[in-house]
Amino acid sequence: MNNPNLREEVDMRRTFAIISHPDAGKTTITEQLLLFGGAIRQAGTVKGKKTGNFAKSDWMEIEKQRGISVTSSVMQFDYDGKRVNILDTPGHEDFSEDTYRTLMAVDSAVMVIDSAKGIEAQTKKLFQVVKKRGIPIFTFINKLDRDGREPLELLEELEELLDIESYPMNWPIGMGKGLEGLYDIYNNRVELYRPDNYGGERFVPLDDAGDIPENHPLKGNSLFSDVQEEVELLKEAGDSFNRKKIARGDQTPVFFGSALTNFGVQTFLETFLEFAPSPYGHKTIDGQEVSPYEQDFSGFVFKIQANMNPAHRDRIAFVRICSGTFERGMDVFLERTGKKMKLANVTQFMADTRENIQEAVAGDIIGVYDTGNYQIGDTIYEGKLKVAYEELPSFTPELFMKVQAKNVMKQKSFHKGIYQLVQEGAIQLYKTYLTEEYIIGAVGQLQFEVFQYRMQNEYNAEVIMTPMGHKIARWIDPKDLDEKMSSSRNILARDRFDQPLFLFENQFAMRWFSDKYPNVELKSLM
Ligand code: GDP
Repeated sequence: MNNPNLREEVDMRRTFAIISHPDAGKTTITEQLLLFGGAIRQAGTVKGKKTGNFAKSDWMEIEKQRGISVTSSVMQFDYDGKRVNILDTPGHEDFSEDTYRTLMAVDSAVMVIDSAKGIEAQTKKLFQVVKKRGIPIFTFINKLDRDGREPLELLEELEELLDIESYPMNWPIGMGKGLEGLYDIYNNRVELYRPDNYGGERFVPLDDAGDIPENHPLKGNSLFSDVQEEVELLKEAGDSFNRKKIARGDQTPVFFGSALTNFGVQTFLETFLEFAPSPYGHKTIDGQEVSPYEQDFSGFVFKIQANMNPAHRDRIAFVRICSGTFERGMDVFLERTGKKMKLANVTQFMADTRENIQEAVAGDIIGVYDTGNYQIGDTIYEGKLKVAYEELPSFTPELFMKVQAKNVMKQKSFHKGIYQLVQEGAIQLYKTYLTEEYIIGAVGQLQFEVFQYRMQNEYNAEVIMTPMGHKIARWIDPKDLDEKMSSSRNILARDRFDQPLFLFENQFAMRWFSDKYPNVELKSLM
């Protein structure tokens, strides 16, 4: 479709993911952002474990029960002339693969850190995933209303453990009970935590020398003077603000604040929107890049989810639009099959309310109702564009279970469930080579639990799962395959694309195999 305003509309998009170790405050900050954007009216709508009012972004029953976010969800709002798309990601490491795919669909990431805990295990893992993408990373150090670690120590840890330069956009004045405010370096002002103690204005503009105006009650405050000195030192000794490095993900702008008391969040949002990139061009399989300003529509499926709303029992393919304009009812081609599809029933995500949308452009995420046509990684395009976007990486599963239907009469729902969950990317499926027994593979144990729960609750298929423990999965070229290669220390299987692989007992078994068949290349996924 020809959209004369395409460039302008794309440029106002900001599509990003929030990552954090569980409990750092990702949900709380997301909620504050949605409040600013007017997408929700009341705090506690996104998450209120105690009140039984669950996170809008925590879709599923199992997430409620365990209080974790299993799947990534998408939220959109307008702020300051920008259209913001936030993609939530599960914090638990067992769902890293889902997070990874989500990160393929964003242009930048925000990393939330607990000021008392610093860089935690999952922060580090997720950070490395973002780093691989080479996209800008913004840091929000949260919970300043509590006693945490020294800011300088936190920055040092960040640089050391994550191997990235940091640039403080603001600096805390006190913390915990002694929190007075933020020295907003970027905007050259002070943001007061309790403005009422200092004449009522939240923001105190600083003069050119970074000083408090003469007659302001904060003048002469010793805490502020100390911070002033610290900031001077930072300016002299620290790295300078470098837009190019930020764009590559080699420097992270750091913001301090408190999501719970809504302190510093708005400043963060406004500054973030200024620096966060608008949609990038996306790479195709053959290394070309498609510009977001290209008039023909294209996009890829980065996530599929069945039964998002128990009242609907539907399945939705999440598409990141990479170019052009989506228009309700438009025809597109599904690259994998060449099939023509009508995009009639499409939603956008405002947490638990879904609105049927009329139009969206590159950078936006749309949810396409799916009756089983789409798979993760699929490209769809309009007319002559004919692109295939880069494959979405899969992780090599490490844990395996044999599965079968408990009730043989329910084979049909068993198969339906298993295939849908596999297409969603919730779990990987293999069959033993000769006997065709089902084996499912996962990166983390929780994936199995979610699988079992969903099979029963969504497909009414009780499953029997027999743990096989850790295995090392390695694929081989079908032409190298000889059934004699199968032994007591490995299991020969095929994946859902009929590609042969071995599940090795351990490293030793794999080495033994390689010694015996030196010419057979063993390949892993990611
Ligand atoms: P998530 O797991 O990263 O989504 O974390 P949540 O947003 O659910 O927050 C975890 C806990 O920390 C909750 O009890 C929040 O109320 C609390 N929390 C979040 N932000 C802050 C903050 O700025 N200050 C304090 N004191 N608590 C916070």
